[in-house]
Amino acid sequence: MNTLNITKQIIKKYNIKANKRYGQNFLIDDNILQNITEVAEITSKDLVIEIGPGLGNLTEYILNKAAYALLIEIDSKMIDVLTDRLKEYSNYTLLNEDILKVNINQVVNKIEQQQNIKFEKVKVVANLPYYITTPIIFKILEDENIISDITVMVQKEVALRMVAKNNSKDYGILTLMVEYFCDANIKLEVSPNCFIPPPNVTSSVILLKKNKKYKVNNEKLLFELIHKAFAQRRKKMINSLEANKFNNMNKKQVEDLFLKCNIDFNTRAEQLDIKQYIDIVNNI
Ligand code: SAH
Repeated sequence: MNTLNITKQIIKKYNIKANKRYGQNFLIDDNILQNITEVAEITSKDLVIEIGPGLGNLTEYILNKAAYALLIEIDSKMIDVLTDRLKEYSNYTLLNEDILKVNINQVVNKIEQQQNIKFEKVKVVANLPYYITTPIIFKILEDENIISDITVMVQKEVALRMVAKNNSKDYGILTLMVEYFCDANIKLEVSPNCFIPPPNVTSSVILLKKNKKYKVNNEKLLFELIHKAFAQRRKKMINSLEANKFNNMNKKQVEDLFLKCNIDFNTRAEQLDIKQYIDIVNNI
């Protein structure tokens, strides 16, 4: 049976009402589900983390390919559905938690100990809840270094921000963080009618492969610089940095730093590329 019919049956059986607050849009298109697992290149040596498995539509595809899956779902109503639907599988751990509160590195280490396996790669594969896409991505990039590849469905606009070039309106904090940590490629565009209920936006599947290409003396300071540069993106960057007390520097100190890095005093945050941001930090 196809995923659309299974979804309709489950919705009826459990009297499911998609919860807007949790960003619930269930993916029902088998071609897209298949494509997502192909983009992620899931192998039988991988541990896959699925954020928000929902009714389990993507989960079944993942479990058929991966060595093991860690499923993290906030909605307790989904937990019964998943436990029932996945009863033929034993290669997963299901947590009823908020992804933003889980220490993934720790949980994965525990699973490796319990299963007595060292997974070749730990990958995130998910149709993300759109209301918290950015915090989830930042968490995976900054805190969870065990994860190597991230294949996620996000709002098309967010995918475009991840791969934006400087001097464009999409360019910002998310772009720079993604550029610093990963190689990013948009892989698929997905129309609203591939979901129940359909979201109000077009979606994209993006593949982020962790690859730190740049040397920076102080990572924390780089992240502070990026955030404070864009805190007032219409202002000149020097003024935004001063107003937000970047590294506790006064205007004269920031100007001296810009001189050292050969950056014009009138520059705005969106004009600089990641190398220039790193250059600023490395000159402090
Ligand atoms: N993967 C499923 C569902 C996607 S909808 C599919 O493709 O059909 C997004 C899912 O994320 C929902 O199941 C929602 O309950 C869950 N979710 C929302 N916020 C969450 C959070 N903070 N932590 C974990 N899961 C969350």
